[in-house]
Amino acid sequence: MAASLVFRLHDRGPEVVREVLLERGWEEYDEEEREEEDWNLYWRGSAFRNSEYHNLLPWQRLNHHPKTVGITRKDCLARNLRRMRATFGSALYDFSPTVFILPNDYTSFLSEYNKRRLPRGPTAFWICKPVDLSRGRGIFIFEHIKDLVYDCSVIVQRYISNPLLISGYKFDLRIYACVKSFHPLTVYIHQEGLVRFATEKYNLSSLQNLYAHLTNTSINKFGPFYKMEKERVGQGCKWTMSKFRHFLHSQDINELLLWQKINNIVTLTLLTIAPAVPSCPNCVEMFGFDILIDAKFKPWLLEVNYSPALTLDCQADITVKKGLISDLIDLMNYTLADSLRQRAYQRRGYKQPCFHAHHPSHVSIPVLSKFKETKFQKRRSGSHSLQTLPLIKTHRPPERMNHRQPRQHAFIADYQRHLPPVDLNQMCASRIVNANKAHTDDETLNLILGLHSRTDVSAVNRQTCPALAPWLTENWSRHVSEVTHHDDTETEAEVELSGGTDVSSSIRDIPHRGLGLRCSKLPNIYSGRTERSTALHAQHIPPLRVGDFIRTFPFSTATLRASQQKLDVKLVIQELHRLTAQLATSSRKLRREEEEGREMEGEEDFDSLLWGPKDPPLLSQRFKPT
Ligand code: ADP
Repeated sequence: MAASLVFRLHDRGPEVVREVLLERGWEEYDEEEREEEDWNLYWRGSAFRNSEYHNLLPWQRLNHHPKTVGITRKDCLARNLRRMRATFGSALYDFSPTVFILPNDYTSFLSEYNKRRLPRGPTAFWICKPVDLSRGRGIFIFEHIKDLVYDCSVIVQRYISNPLLISGYKFDLRIYACVKSFHPLTVYIHQEGLVRFATEKYNLSSLQNLYAHLTNTSINKFGPFYKMEKERVGQGCKWTMSKFRHFLHSQDINELLLWQKINNIVTLTLLTIAPAVPSCPNCVEMFGFDILIDAKFKPWLLEVNYSPALTLDCQADITVKKGLISDLIDLMNYTLADSLRQRAYQRRGYKQPCFHAHHPSHVSIPVLSKFKETKFQKRRSGSHSLQTLPLIKTHRPPERMNHRQPRQHAFIADYQRHLPPVDLNQMCASRIVNANKAHTDDETLNLILGLHSRTDVSAVNRQTCPALAPWLTENWSRHVSEVTHHDDTETEAEVELSGGTDVSSSIRDIPHRGLGLRCSKLPNIYSGRTERSTALHAQHIPPLRVGDFIRTFPFSTATLRASQQKLDVKLVIQELHRLTAQLATSSRKLRREEEEGREMEGEEDFDSLLWGPKDPPLLSQRFKPT
């Protein structure tokens, strides 16, 4: 019997992650019962330590990439966006309200404040936020500088005083964006999301009333009107994004451009840190982008949340967050069971039952004791036993190793030598291709993704068929018999574990990116392949959608190319510019572009969905001349 997948939650939460994973047949990690490497997903609300990235094993994944604080802390985000605006201009980087980091920027704030207080100009309002707090804590809005009082590092941001209102209530959007990989940059945005309302009517003459000005649930759920039925908004303070879409339709609002602008905000924000984030192929991260729409339908980025709240306060939360986590797990490409982890243990003589050792109903204690004893013996014999293990050269300086590392280092080294990292993109490609194959599609893909997968197989089939070269189908056909329990990486790894070809020879080092992560030295499926033909690129095109996650980057052949080696930020920005312009202009103009011979993105081997609308169209369909 194959080993179940195992998840590990830091500090026992979040509950919704536990619930979704248990429903999918995963088991929860218990350090009393399991070996310390015996898990597949480690979920934390806070940051992982460097050593946790260093010691990752091929079957293990983390829910955070390293070093993303550059967008998730308010002052860092402000600095990074300022830098990007200075480099690439404000034509696209115009989505964040003017901001100052105090106390450092106090003088520049003062001059801006005075400039905006001209006698006949419109009144300017400001919002002050502690740089490292969340959930509305410590925030206040002010008009006069005498009211600006702070005793910690804060940002002061121009207050968007003309928000779009629904029946007089302010709201913002919580957009969930998943970075599947930073190298190459691969981003998905969930179609569902939350609309978070203030619970008292918006009124600029009562700046102290946080229930009217802040949209945080953590604040509004304690407001006097939270439980009351509010005009159009209803009870509570949240809508699902579907309900918001419905509202936009009912108002006859053309939403496409709005969604595209939000999509651009996500990409442009991620571009600020993407080149500097160390490569860690086994990490996947979901960020919460807070977007405020003003009365002119312009979306503004308020902040990016590192660990977006996963508490279930109301029905909208349940609907959105359960689906979100389920789709996120699908995006992580786990198979139904972990034969990679299992075989790694078996190869070392630790039989399957050690996964369940200490369980009262289990009779595998002898096997476990063998494992424990071996570990103990190794510890006792210290460095001597290490010499007997096949170590590979690592760039990690010895002083960074902690007390656990000799054993784990050997263990890691042993497997790192043999196993490629989790190859998310290739697995996705195999899912799609396999789903397109003779196996009656929906069944096959559901098997791959698990019974509880929410991936819309028919949509994937419908929308990806044209995007894949026919030869690709053959390329992946060898996996068909294995798809229920194997992803591509695993398949190769297993060949290796059972004595097949040594894949370590094909492993290339990724350039050292400062942090010196062990996982950054794992092979990158893209490295060394960019010189080859476009057809080969197609092999690495991440799927258009996984469940309700829509791929938003790369969105064209040019952006795929621009992200495969060193990320070409300038080119990506040009492409975003172009795409937005395309959406804004009529199809007549597009036809003219085609006649002039300018290449349409969305060529036959690559296409993208337009994120946002209920049934997202393919970009190529959208731009097809009528
Ligand atoms: P926190 O991390 O504490 O939630 P946010 O930056 O998200 O901080 O701000 C909290 C809330 O304050 C937002 O959800 C929004 O309703 C309101 N808000 C924040 N910044 C602005 C702004 N510049 N203009 C208008 N409203 C804002």
